[in-house]
Amino acid sequence: MSFDYRDVSVWVEEPADLQPALDAELRCDVAIVGGGLTGLNAALALRAEGVNVVLLEMDFCGKGASGRNAGHLTPAIGKDVPTLVKQVGAARAAEYIGFGERAVRHTQQIFERYGIDCDYRPVGNIIAGVHPRHTEPLQRSAELAAGIGAEVRYLNEDEMRARKLPPVFRVGVLESCGGHLHPGKYVLGLRRAALSAGVRIFEATPVTGIEDGASPIKVLTPRGMLRADKLIVATNAYTPSTLKRLKSKVFPLRDTMFQTARLTDAQLDRLGWTGREGVYTAHESLESYRITADGRLVGGSKHVQYGYNGALIGGNDPALFQKFADLLKVRFPEVPDLAIESFWGGWICMTLDFLPLSFGNARGDVFYGLGYNGHGVAQATLNGTMLADQVLGRPNEDVALLKRRVFPLPPEPLRWLALHALKWRLGRTDGVVDADLRRGIV
Ligand SMILES: Cc1cc2nc3c(=O)[nH]c(=O)nc-3n(C[C@H](O)[C@H](O)[C@H](O)COP(=O)(O)OP(=O)(O)OC[C@H]3O[C@@H](n4cnc5c(N)ncnc54)[C@H](O)[C@@H]3O)c2cc1C
Repeated sequence: MSFDYRDVSVWVEEPADLQPALDAELRCDVAIVGGGLTGLNAALALRAEGVNVVLLEMDFCGKGASGRNAGHLTPAIGKDVPTLVKQVGAARAAEYIGFGERAVRHTQQIFERYGIDCDYRPVGNIIAGVHPRHTEPLQRSAELAAGIGAEVRYLNEDEMRARKLPPVFRVGVLESCGGHLHPGKYVLGLRRAALSAGVRIFEATPVTGIEDGASPIKVLTPRGMLRADKLIVATNAYTPSTLKRLKSKVFPLRDTMFQTARLTDAQLDRLGWTGREGVYTAHESLESYRITADGRLVGGSKHVQYGYNGALIGGNDPALFQKFADLLKVRFPEVPDLAIESFWGGWICMTLDFLPLSFGNARGDVFYGLGYNGHGVAQATLNGTMLADQVLGRPNEDVALLKRRVFPLPPEPLRWLALHALKWRLGRTDGVVDADLRRGIV
């Protein structure tokens, strides 16, 4: 079977006003590498303070994860709340949860500040249990999270049915803070805002090297060079392979998404889901689902991939797409006639402790913001502002909160072996759940 595969996503295309590549030597106060949510938000926050900012993007702004994601605006942070509490203790976990929720609210303010209409629906997201095995852990997790101040609530089977959620989603934990949006409209809205604020953006400009031993810093590109007093690296999952930096702190995982045809009124009636909440399943390797403003089902994740040495391997994989097509039929038997129209994928940037990074070097002139573990729509937005504060030398409590000792990842081949062993173990746990769902015995 053949599938429509999008090189980028269904959300973005190369903008008609693609900005020219850098082909000269330029000087600026602050250089930013990477035109996704992190880089664009940092640029806007700096520009608002009158800083002379130049942003360099190797393709077009939004071509990275920011223009490819599923659009869940979620406060989720850490692997899950019980793991986070085990990792850092209840008090610190509460602070991280506060950070996640602050990131969502900050993102909502950004939509308003820059007049970005990105089909945002503040309907919350639900972590849904799809198997009796998920029920008790979700109930405990909701109690624990609510007990330390998270805006969450456990939904039992009756409450899930009252919300008319598809029956596969048996119970859930509702995160009421957040919702979902059109990722392309968000990131391209930021790009427009940055251009009109006077950020100089150079697209089709890959940064090939950074000389940061002396001031000013030199940022090298194929046909030009930028001298800057300060630099922000906002390349996220692409960082290790392109700039050979932070490889011991982060690793990229490929995440695959699909979008169906528009649901007909009859299909929507059969599916229910009238509140349109975003949904993540409680699998170890989660599945994500949401309905778009124009009535399509967007889903994916689950089968994440790691390339040896962090290689950003290709994504057009019909065998994998077939697995998603089969999955759709099992998860939503109410709409057996619902067809997937397109697939795409992108790279998410993982840290070992599932917490994001925002820090500078010892000289205080190079700053990094990355590692959102697949939850970067809110976190990257807030991190842009946090990076701007660091550049400006302003105290920021969230920067202090994320400061921690990061244990280095093992080198290859150990890294590959460890990640594949983990994937296999998680796959076995999820496999039991999925086998029961396939056989219809839950
Ligand atoms: C398939 C998928 C689904 C996701 N779903 C969700 C979701 O539902 N909710 C959520 O919260 N998060 C989700 N995420 C994660 C979220 O999209 C990211 O965390 C967030 O967009 C990161 O933004 P960023 O600006 O840091 O990185 P990116 O958007 O990846 O931007 C980095 C930019 O740097 C550029 N770049 C890289 N190297 C260079 C170089 N050498 N020179 C110049 N430019 C360079 C890239 O071209 C890219 O544009 C998802 C991610 C993916 C891939």
